[in-house]
Amino acid sequence: MPKRKIVIEPDPILRKKSSLIENVDDQVRKLMDDMLLTMYEAPGIGLAAVQVGILRRVIVIDISKDDQKKKPIFLVNPKITHKSKKTSVYEEGCLSLPGHFAEIERPSECHVNYIDYNGREKLLKADGLLATCLQHEIDHLNGILFIDYLSKLKKDMIIKKLIKHKKEINKIIL
Ligand code: ZN
Repeated sequence: MPKRKIVIEPDPILRKKSSLIENVDDQVRKLMDDMLLTMYEAPGIGLAAVQVGILRRVIVIDISKDDQKKKPIFLVNPKITHKSKKTSVYEEGCLSLPGHFAEIERPSECHVNYIDYNGREKLLKADGLLATCLQHEIDHLNGILFIDYLSKLKKDMIIKKLIKHKKEINKIIL
């Protein structure tokens, strides 16, 4: 099962907190491989395990451009240890909220402690797009979506459209 199905909002699982991984074993590596493939095919630049229905603290990210060599980053149990006071704004999208984008302000730099693909502890100091992407994906592990930073009105409007979109998809399948 290399490619996995992406969970679309609204879905209660996207609001749950993911649990820590105790040991990076072959099963976890298989999950990371599958997630990377799913993300590349979508296509997207970041994916959290909860987005494929697995409530574990695993994310994959690759912000390399199409014409560059792929540079996947696998993060297990990522934890933000530092956020800058300086902020930046990016127009964010999400594979679980297809077709919706919004400008979100976040700290422009962050440091993240994590365990890598081989089970080694690492520290990543990120800025720019990578910093935003890390914060977006780590939010997923805590049940937070980027629309949570918007006004209630905007958020409700997006969720309404997503519900309509889901119903249309179901109609086609039936
Ligand atoms: Zn997302």
